[in-house]
Amino acid sequence: MATVIGKDGHLISTIEHLLSAVYAYGIDNLRVIVDGDEVPVMDGSSASYCILLDEAQVVQQDVPKKVMRIKKEVIVQEGEKYVKLSPSPDLQYDFTIKFPHPAIKTQEYVLKFTKETYKKEISRARTFGFLHEVQYLRSKGLALGGSLENAIVLDEKKILNPEGLRYPDEFVRHKILDAIGDMCSYRDELYRKL
Ligand SMILES: [Zn+2]
Repeated sequence: MATVIGKDGHLISTIEHLLSAVYAYGIDNLRVIVDGDEVPVMDGSSASYCILLDEAQVVQQDVPKKVMRIKKEVIVQEGEKYVKLSPSPDLQYDFTIKFPHPAIKTQEYVLKFTKETYKKEISRARTFGFLHEVQYLRSKGLALGGSLENAIVLDEKKILNPEGLRYPDEFVRHKILDAIGDMCSYRDELYRKL
């Protein structure tokens, strides 16, 4: 339920929210030091990382950037889910989710990507989970720090967070946040495949 990367037997999990913010700020050279095997979940979104990156400022370096240009359509499908990369003059994410849950149902969001649209429309969208999953994870000793402070939690019918949602379609917006982070983490692998 999180993106895990690793090298030489060392693994680090839940990197997608941090890398999503890092990508949004155009950063491709960064040392991240983590105490433990998991990146802090913060409030379940990437907003805190955006605030820290704004404070730290981005430094331009002298080495040319590697960029990935999509020259032909690529589709990866698994059951009913698919991801499609298409050539486009600008970066745009179009995401649709379908959940058989009355508070989510079908949601679609199209992000015309800039750092500013990311910060305003995407970065505050929190991760979400279902109560039965949280209970199961806890029984396995996982997600012990998981609470209504760092995720939207749903029971079978409704959202349990008393403050409600930050965006009416926060669920699909969070999926875009994840997709941006995951594209960033798998970039080197994608270079090899495309
Ligand atoms: Zn996420």
